[in-house]
Amino acid sequence: MFVAGLTGGIGSGKSAVARLIQEQGIVAVDADQVARDVVAPGEPALAQIAKRFGAEILQSDGALNRAALRQIVFATPDARLWLETLLHPLIRQRIQASLQAATSAYSLLMSPLLLETDQHKLVDYIVVVDVPEEIQLQRATERDRNSTDQIRRIMAAQMDRKTRLARADSIIDNSGNLQSLRAATLQLHRTLLQRAQDARDS
Ligand code: ADP
Repeated sequence: MFVAGLTGGIGSGKSAVARLIQEQGIVAVDADQVARDVVAPGEPALAQIAKRFGAEILQSDGALNRAALRQIVFATPDARLWLETLLHPLIRQRIQASLQAATSAYSLLMSPLLLETDQHKLVDYIVVVDVPEEIQLQRATERDRNSTDQIRRIMAAQMDRKTRLARADSIIDNSGNLQSLRAATLQLHRTLLQRAQDARDS
């Protein structure tokens, strides 16, 4: 299975690109969704988290209190490391299983942390969605109804634009409107179909 990885900063347009690719019949795996799935009620990882941080980390319905966990790991580097050591391999395994089960011409892994974690090792090709920082800030602020300061903090914690772009096999420029994004994505889709075909032939 030929796997393309899709990444970009917050608000760059990853979800929009993934949706357009899915419309072409391609299986897309959302790493953020998998990260939520592995700590859903009933999952062993959630029990381990509750054991380490106490039952206060759970909501009354038994689901993980993400805001509380975020606060702990933000304040305690040890806790963060522990959590990453627990979750990253689980997330990776589950992503890998979903990608390999896909029956489309290629599959897509959408992940904000594709390059920051070893998830990039799961993909054959790296696509970066790119917009200038002012547009990124504006779109993410509007979408999340968040303060620009909050979005700025998230952006500062993410990989910087230049480093990310340097790792791309393909770059989608999403500084235009949704119609140009659609055209660029269809172009990318054709490239990926060709790459997947080449990989099968070789
Ligand atoms: P990401 O998944 O990378 O965080 P999204 O795909 O959610 O980003 O895009 C961020 C926001 O910007 C969304 O509300 C989306 O609808 C909007 N958006 C994405 N691309 C464009 C575009 N080309 N023109 C206008 N709005 C866009």
